[in-house]
Amino acid sequence: MAKKTVRDIDVAGKRVLVRVDFNVPLEDGRITDDRRIREARPTITYLIDRGARVILCSHLGRPRGQVVESLRLDPVAARLGELLDRPVRKTNEVVGPPVQAAVAAMKPEEVLLLENLRFHAEEEANDPAFARQLAALADIYVNDAFGAAHRAHASTVGVAQYLPAVAGFLMEKELLHLGAILDRPTHPFVAILGGKKVEDKIPVIRHLLARADAILLGGAMSYTFLRARGLEVGKSLVEPEMVGLAGELMEEARRREVAFELPVDVVVAQSPEGGPTRVVPVELLPPDWMGVDIGPRTREQFIDVVKRAGTIFWNGPMGIFEVDAFADGTTALAQAMAETSATTVVGGGDTAAAVEEVGVAERITHISTGGGASLEFMEGKVLPGVAVLNDR
Ligand code: ADP
Ligand code: MG
Repeated sequence: MAKKTVRDIDVAGKRVLVRVDFNVPLEDGRITDDRRIREARPTITYLIDRGARVILCSHLGRPRGQVVESLRLDPVAARLGELLDRPVRKTNEVVGPPVQAAVAAMKPEEVLLLENLRFHAEEEANDPAFARQLAALADIYVNDAFGAAHRAHASTVGVAQYLPAVAGFLMEKELLHLGAILDRPTHPFVAILGGKKVEDKIPVIRHLLARADAILLGGAMSYTFLRARGLEVGKSLVEPEMVGLAGELMEEARRREVAFELPVDVVVAQSPEGGPTRVVPVELLPPDWMGVDIGPRTREQFIDVVKRAGTIFWNGPMGIFEVDAFADGTTALAQAMAETSATTVVGGGDTAAAVEEVGVAERITHISTGGGASLEFMEGKVLPGVAVLNDR
């Protein structure tokens, strides 16, 4: 069911608590990728323009219920201030008297950022008292943190019990694009999956088997499927306990007449860090080598499918793209995604980073800001942070 958004409520003069996803990568206290902050801007600007008092909250990293100095949100407040071209005040606490005082002092159009939510164990525990404390700061709750919507935490689920709860524009955009490819894809609908963690991706493949016309597999996870076909894959990453399930999925693909393509050739190396490479057909993978990228023939085949697709969903790099010599498959695929006229949707943190690195992000229809959240959505799950928002 469609959820209410900030457009459906009157926010003028109101105190609006906005859960954003400012969980950005940091190196030595510097933000290395501010995409998530930039993506939150439309909602924040909209609220400012309508005279709301904007109270932002987010988690950052995994402080596990303790104050971790390096995970304070000060660099985020500074970057947001630059992006909005206005001061963004920040509290050093998440809840409590100093925060209440800071909120009480706010004027319309002002922006305040609370400290890292996960400095309190109550956040991840979805503690009702903590959720009530957060809710007491505001008149309205907005969830714009798609990337955290698969978690039932105090700031994503608990707080919605006490306030009118609506979606922000980023949340709306994510649900629209990801929902459209599941509900009404233009065919042929092609899903490309790679990367690691077969266990996380199997439910996605299962759900997509009922919808997609073709599923292409690359990356580390493809070796578990090649094993299931009875091939020897040398030192390539295999999740042995997943081989049985992989075989069952390929059987189901046959039954449903969904094209299921595995690599036909791969780039192999003796170390995941680099060194000499060879290209071999998958049937001839040498015992002491490991697959680190899809090979040129596989690349051609995958690109050919991409060119003829109406809709493409891509999660997971085709190889160890962090190493330049193993990045050709991922790069070629990102370029093919940019060139096709199909609707293209990318999910997953590493895949999004790869697409950015290749420099084609602007030419992808939608790059999800949610890693785990986008995968759980593609599994067909209702995300708890979405479920609690008010229906239209
Ligand atoms: P995403 O974050 O997009 O969901 P994953 O986290 O599942 O993607 O997978 C990304 C990781 O998979 C990358 O770090 C990449 O190096 C690794 N990877 C891809 N192919 C291989 C491979 N053949 N062997 C080992 N690791 C691989
Ligand atoms: Mg990842």
